[in-house]
Amino acid sequence: MTHHFTVDLEEYFQVSAFESCVARADWKYFESRVARETAKLLELLARHDVRATFFVLGWVAQRQAELIRTIARGGHEVASHGWDHVRVTHQTPHQFRESIRRTKHVLEAMTGTAVLGFRAPSFSIVPGREWALDILVEEGYRYDSSLFPVRRPGYGYPGGRPDPHWMGRRAGRLAEIPPATLQWGPLRLPAGGGAYFRLLPYGVIRAALRQCERREVPGTFYVHPWEVDPRQPRVGVSWLTRARHYGGLRRTLPRLERLLTEFRFAPIRETVAVLGRARRRTSRPERILHRNSA
Ligand SMILES: [Zn+2]
Repeated sequence: MTHHFTVDLEEYFQVSAFESCVARADWKYFESRVARETAKLLELLARHDVRATFFVLGWVAQRQAELIRTIARGGHEVASHGWDHVRVTHQTPHQFRESIRRTKHVLEAMTGTAVLGFRAPSFSIVPGREWALDILVEEGYRYDSSLFPVRRPGYGYPGGRPDPHWMGRRAGRLAEIPPATLQWGPLRLPAGGGAYFRLLPYGVIRAALRQCERREVPGTFYVHPWEVDPRQPRVGVSWLTRARHYGGLRRTLPRLERLLTEFRFAPIRETVAVLGRARRRTSRPERILHRNSA
């Protein structure tokens, strides 16, 4: 049973939580740390013989071409995180299309490999923004990993299916690969990575992945390069944002070590290929081939 290890490749100053105090026009003045921190992740993955999926910001790719080629050469999947981390909730359909088209084009030119997947900044394909899924199909994407089936302030897709599935969209079909969640009694809790991985007990993530194994589906874990960088320059934000962004940074690497020892991982593109084959075999149970009419 393999899961998905995914990395949202962005700089420490590009996170949505800093939007109000770090203007995009000022990004160029910040020290770049993404290559060094990503090298730590690549070393860890290589040591555990794991291939991951990297959702790369177009803005970063344009400035770090060698890093992106190194990731691809390592056998990892390069996918899209949009151009400059604008949340889908802050974009018009036209702006969204431009962002994902430009990012796909730049990444494919760099790696020589088709980009199949997309993850929205801050999981910002929320109810009412499903038009983004149609645009992904129209722009040649095969899967999305943005529908977080939880209810959280600012994001989440409550009622979304927790496991990989096909969505039948007006524009065509798109596989959905949601981040891992933990079913706890009547509650579905976010347990896919990021701050949940650093701030909650490790056992929460482990339990979520074990639940996936019992359902015989891969769970999807995510981490950011800045989460293995305890010495990153601090940005002056509210105490709550500070706690979420800077809390537990020293725990990330030892916990990743443990996660990679206890579970096996493969890139998302492999699951999507299996889903595609399963869909063509009519005898296959419909469990993971659910058609989402949203
Ligand atoms: Zn991001």
